[in-house]
Amino acid sequence: MSAPGPIVTTDLAVDYRTKTGTVRALDCSALRVEGGASVAIMGPSGSGKSTLLGLLAGLALPTEGAVTIGGETISALPEPERVSFRRRALGMVYQADNLLPHLTVEENLGLQLAICRRETAPDQGIDPDALLRRLGLARLAQRLPDQLSGGERQRVAVARAVIHRPVVILADEPTGALDAASAKLVIGLLVEVHQEIGATLVLVTHDPQIASYLARIVHLERHEKTSGTTDAR
Ligand code: ADP
Ligand code: MG
Repeated sequence: MSAPGPIVTTDLAVDYRTKTGTVRALDCSALRVEGGASVAIMGPSGSGKSTLLGLLAGLALPTEGAVTIGGETISALPEPERVSFRRRALGMVYQADNLLPHLTVEENLGLQLAICRRETAPDQGIDPDALLRRLGLARLAQRLPDQLSGGERQRVAVARAVIHRPVVILADEPTGALDAASAKLVIGLLVEVHQEIGATLVLVTHDPQIASYLARIVHLERHEKTSGTTDAR
């Protein structure tokens, strides 16, 4: 794996056209996250946090501005190349685990590796057994997702996000549905694994305690009244 380059955005805006007019979903002044660093994105509901992660993932395109990751302008790539970028370079964790319900823990990880292997070197990935042990999941390998607790499912979701050693991990409120103890366990493991593999971590959270696990906090403001980001530290 090459060392991750920085994530750089110019001023980004996303507009959605609705029946009643145009809605500005995101208005975010320029942002830079160094390769391998971690940042928490905080802000009120509706301030565009999920929209911003979607742009960083190349899942959506900005109305204004550009997203560059490791020197590659993701927002200018055609869709097939953005798919390739996601498989090669990106790990995603969502609030709901999004595991495939009819596959075991081991099979969920195996499928992720198989999909990513089309775009990565054969030896880029982490051995699934070693990763499951690392995340305290070894005894759960043969379970189906609905045979796990919410915290265990999110730990599997973390495993799935990192198994191909992505250069960027994007997490959208990954502990939002968990009790405090499970949330602490999941965020602790996510931050440890991000450091171990040297990936850049961008994580959205409402919770200041969760945000405190990350090196830096960026606040997205509601754009009806104000626009842009402020750096808290
Ligand atoms: P957050 O994750 O910070 O809660 P979102 O990024 O989900 O915010 O949404 C930002 C704003 O954009 C919200 O006001 C939301 O209602 C609006 N929005 C999101 N997706 C769409 C869409 N497909 N069409 C219209 N408005 C949308
Ligand atoms: Mg959101």
